[in-house]
Amino acid sequence: MVKVPFVNLGLQFEAHEQALTEAFRSLSKRGAYVMSPELEEFEKRFAAYIGTEFAVGVGNATDGLFLTMKALNIGAGDEVITVSNSFIATGGAIANAGARAIFIDVGEDYNMDPDLLEPAITPRTRAILPVHLTGMPADMTPILEIAKRHELLVIEDAAQAVGAKYEGKRVGSLGIAGAFSLHPLKNLHVQGDGGVVTTNDATLYRELMKWRNHGLKNRDECDFFAYNSRLDSIQAAIANEKLSYLDQYTERFQEIAMRYWNGLKGSVEVPVLPENREGVFHNFVIQVNEREALMAFLESEGIETKIHYPIPIHQQKAAQVFELGTPHLPVTEKQAKRILSLPIYPELKDEQVKTVVDKINRYFN
Ligand SMILES: *Cc1c(COP(=O)(O)O)cnc(C)c1O
Repeated sequence: MVKVPFVNLGLQFEAHEQALTEAFRSLSKRGAYVMSPELEEFEKRFAAYIGTEFAVGVGNATDGLFLTMKALNIGAGDEVITVSNSFIATGGAIANAGARAIFIDVGEDYNMDPDLLEPAITPRTRAILPVHLTGMPADMTPILEIAKRHELLVIEDAAQAVGAKYEGKRVGSLGIAGAFSLHPLKNLHVQGDGGVVTTNDATLYRELMKWRNHGLKNRDECDFFAYNSRLDSIQAAIANEKLSYLDQYTERFQEIAMRYWNGLKGSVEVPVLPENREGVFHNFVIQVNEREALMAFLESEGIETKIHYPIPIHQQKAAQVFELGTPHLPVTEKQAKRILSLPIYPELKDEQVKTVVDKINRYFN
């Protein structure tokens, strides 16, 4: 039986073992663990890759979103419009900034439905926070247009979408800022937690550099009390190594996605592929009725699948802080019952991809 685990991080380490071990040795001998040149090098290279002036390494993407809101003075009394079909961190960052998340429904691309944006805007709205879920960019042109008309900030949750493009531009370069995750389960990942925020705004950049580092403007002078959320040097060194291979990895993600897409389109609902966007397929999500039965069948065949995410944020107990009552999010709620993520990572073998396709098709036919 061809087994298909949902992740296999050891394989990527093996492929980079020599370079990563060397980076660890070099850092360790210098004792350069925090704010070493590796961090600055990664920030410069990452900004260039995304197409922004600046990038700021942070502890994780959740802090990236949170610190961005702090730096933009978004907090108590403010509303941030976002989606409920996301990892809970999207809502958590807004709550921890002291603001109120307003959830609107998503479209068939699993992302913010721009048609629902304008009715959700109130005098308290400060920002729109679209999520590029599954690594597929949200429909940014109408989102940016509406934001401009209403003088709202756009903060991109690009945690799942490093390298994804919208009309030729990489996500994270479209709003005032974009937050990326380097968590082990994300496409560009390190060996622990990590994150990075991109921006073209020089003021935001300067403020973020302080917000992640105790509010210090230099070694000794502190402008305001802030947080300690820097990207560790060892993680920055790992990210530097991985960044050199990101395009290669992305191509493989996309190749596997197309094998799934072509192989499964007759049996299940496959992702929509809008022409103006290039997704990086952090997840490959299908939709089926009676999902649990399919999951159990695949499990019995040695194929591991997951659900991203079974409980939308607005239905979490934690979301009661937003005092939203019962928001009307029919598409989000319907999708939460039908979505299923198939294994996808660059190290997956063609034979494994074919096994997944064959088993699902056999199940339905
Ligand atoms: C992973 C993820 C985050 C949080 O990233 P961390 O680096 O783990 O904090 C936020 N939003 C989305 C959509 C994510 O997938």
